[in-house]
Amino acid sequence: MAKNIHPELKEAYERLYHETPLGYYNCGRLCDGLCCRGDCKGMWLYPYEEELFADKEGFEVCETEGNYGYPMVICSGECDRAERPLACRIFPLFPLVIEEDGKVIIKVIRDPRATMCPIVRSSKRIDPSFVRQVRLTARRLIRDEKMFDYMKNVSLELLEIIELQSRLASEERE
Ligand code: SF4
Ligand code: SF4
Repeated sequence: MAKNIHPELKEAYERLYHETPLGYYNCGRLCDGLCCRGDCKGMWLYPYEEELFADKEGFEVCETEGNYGYPMVICSGECDRAERPLACRIFPLFPLVIEEDGKVIIKVIRDPRATMCPIVRSSKRIDPSFVRQVRLTARRLIRDEKMFDYMKNVSLELLEIIELQSRLASEERE
């Protein structure tokens, strides 16, 4: 990462460099590396990431109408681990940022959008160290106002998706 990088983002990239959902077991073996060849190749960028991925070989930044004003990046399916965007590093988790009684709570969940991931579809135990690092990363990132607003917006959207998914599941059971 030669370009100027936002300090909170730099710390997040470094913290999550070695962490993986199942610890030392390469989860890509469960799904034949679906992350790098399936739907996950398009990743929503967080604030301050767009400038890092513009003109980066193997990545294409695409404007979209979603993602609260931030674009998406599409990867080639092969990359240097050190170059991955944040969404890839925390996948398939997401740290919900919830404001409750004047307090900010961070709750790490399996991302309900990641329906293709066998870890999300199963009850497979996720490495506690990975969960801890994702939570800590979120806690540090939200010290930045843009990050806080972005993550809070995504959190509200994910909570709506979860509610919708559970409503659909209960209708199917009836
Ligand atoms: S789709 Fe899930 S199990 Fe497969 S490589 Fe990605 S995170 Fe791991
Ligand atoms: S950024 Fe790299 S690790 Fe992440 S999905 Fe793309 S090729 Fe795979």
